[in-house]
Amino acid sequence: MRDPRFDLLFEPVRIGPVVAKNRFYQPPHCNGMGSWRPQAHATMRGVKAEGGWAVVNSEHCSIHPTSDVVPEVLHALWDDADIPNLALMCEAVHAHGALAGVQLAYAAYYNANRYSREVPMGPVARPVDGYYPVQVRQMDKRDIRDLRRWWGDAARRARQAGFDIINVDANFSTVAFQFLSPRNTRTDEYGGSLENRARLLRELIEVTREAVDGKAAVSVRLIIDEMCGPLGLRAQEEGIAAIALLADLPDLWDIVVGTWADDSPTSRFASENAHGRFLEGIKSVTKKPVVGVGRFTSPDTMASLVRRGVLDMIGATRPSIADPFLPRKIEEGREDDIRECIGCNICVSSHFQMTNLRCTQNPTMGEEWRKGWHPERIAPQTSDQSVLVVGAGPAGLECARALGQRGYRVTLAERARQAGGRVTREGSLPGLREWLRVRDWRLGQLRKLTNVEIYLESDMTPETVLELGASHVVLATGARWLADGVGRATHLPIPIEADMPVLTPDDVLDGRKATGEVLVFDDDHYYMGSLVAEVLALGGAAVTLVTPAAEVAAFTETTLELRRIAQRLSELAVRMITHHTLTRAGAGEAQLQHVHTGVTTGIAASAIVMVTARLPEDRLYRALEADPDRLDGVGIKSVTRIGDCLAPGAIFHAVYAGHRYAREFEQPAAEIAFKRERVVL
Ligand code: ADP
Ligand code: SF4
Repeated sequence: MRDPRFDLLFEPVRIGPVVAKNRFYQPPHCNGMGSWRPQAHATMRGVKAEGGWAVVNSEHCSIHPTSDVVPEVLHALWDDADIPNLALMCEAVHAHGALAGVQLAYAAYYNANRYSREVPMGPVARPVDGYYPVQVRQMDKRDIRDLRRWWGDAARRARQAGFDIINVDANFSTVAFQFLSPRNTRTDEYGGSLENRARLLRELIEVTREAVDGKAAVSVRLIIDEMCGPLGLRAQEEGIAAIALLADLPDLWDIVVGTWADDSPTSRFASENAHGRFLEGIKSVTKKPVVGVGRFTSPDTMASLVRRGVLDMIGATRPSIADPFLPRKIEEGREDDIRECIGCNICVSSHFQMTNLRCTQNPTMGEEWRKGWHPERIAPQTSDQSVLVVGAGPAGLECARALGQRGYRVTLAERARQAGGRVTREGSLPGLREWLRVRDWRLGQLRKLTNVEIYLESDMTPETVLELGASHVVLATGARWLADGVGRATHLPIPIEADMPVLTPDDVLDGRKATGEVLVFDDDHYYMGSLVAEVLALGGAAVTLVTPAAEVAAFTETTLELRRIAQRLSELAVRMITHHTLTRAGAGEAQLQHVHTGVTTGIAASAIVMVTARLPEDRLYRALEADPDRLDGVGIKSVTRIGDCLAPGAIFHAVYAGHRYAREFEQPAAEIAFKRERVVL
């Protein structure tokens, strides 16, 4: 059972009038379900509670229509009709003995009120964040009184819904924090000194306390450091002082830093507990429990933070998404089974895509209600059919693992000497080492399954597939990068003269060098273009990255990496040219064309790396499909492509594809593979 060094993680913690059964705290997090998909949301939170989290929070819950962050999919408690949607979550969380928390929030500057069309309000008049053409008006005393009233009403509704912990959100996007920030230039009693700037937060805590009347705890989520230097709140100057000022007014402090991008950096740019220094010293100014986050996946790090008196509860959002059963696994002495978060922020990206939460490591995330997928349980086998899976990349590994978990006899054949496919290859790129966890967790689980056999260095041909005699064949043979320039911007091959060396990311991963003035044409827009540029620049090349998009690595805006990537490339002296496509190249020069104006420019180039599109590696599939009689002859009932071999995508697509095949194998197929929540008139 449990390792005694982790005993302290399972001690109960008193939070005002309620008691958390252990120290595992799932902080508020967006999930693309919210009030719009309340059943999906509640079921997901319930699974977390089942997995052992003592406190399970909702995400940002807007208290009033004057604070509407639509199109982001979040929660609302605007009137009593909103209560049932959140009551569903409370029931699901309580069913497993956990406490339910709600993050009451009133956004300022981050809400354009696109849906409600109310005029946005904030401490001072200023345009809203982003490029939406509307400004915030400055709140006067009456507005502040209104806000307190709305807040109290929302807190009462939250109690009615069944919440045990009512959180006053003073995160970067909220009015409470925007008043506290030194950028609040008001001259009345809500501006100026720290005490004045903290006045609104103090009042909101008091209003909440009054509304819940001792029946629920009141917590505060606060930014302790804005991480923008003297322009913002700094921990040592005013952050800790702000906590000291309100010290024991709330029942719990939940500490964060900066914007979301600062607080949730990817593993490419920051390690576990990256902002640990901001957590030190908080407990000396308050007697109330303190929660902090830091993408904690290691039980040792967690235990050490508690032992050293830094934190009372371990806040873990992404680790709880990657493995909702993390606490239970520690409790049962199964730390090896924890599906560790890889820090890729695909989960964050799903919020920005306004779709159900998804996770690279945990393919069941967001599918708990609509597909009935549970992260730990899966239907047992329904026959004694055997399955051959070809390719041990993320799709093949997950497919074999989940089929194995169901009890099927599985053979996993891989051409390379090592399993992992693209994960193994890309894991060697700067900053992506933690991505290897996608492979390593699956290999660890596969080792425990006696019904799955793995054969490395097994290059499968149509003949060897037919010889093996499995009843079903799954091809997870991946994809390779194209060199002809075809991609999103260019649908036909780009004319490149024979004297111009052209490489692909596969070549760079294979160690092929490019020196001199190298042009990286990034029409892929995720991480690969910037990483190829980084590798080549580190190797001494003078790199220019050209992209048709308005931003370098445009998709990474949703993984919160955009700025860090630009900074990294700038540090490496990589020249970045946006809004341009590559139209031709040869004789030491590349021709670029502006995507809007059509104006062409020539730049010097001694080699080109095309990061544009990938071609499925489906030769084996085509060969097998070409002769159905031979398949019948040896008893092969189906041949299916999954993952990149079917349609190249990100790693989370491949893991999902592998899992989906295993889930649906020998199960009745539905026309639409998931349940929907919709307004029925
Ligand atoms: P995905 O992301 O879809 O899992 P990957 O490219 O990561 O795809 O993995 C595909 C794996 O399939 C690679 O490890 C590759 O070596 C392997 N593979 C491709 N063709 C064969 C084959 N004919 N026999 C065995 N393994 C193969
Ligand atoms: Fe972690 Fe990536 Fe999953 Fe988010 S998507 S929880 S960062 S593994």
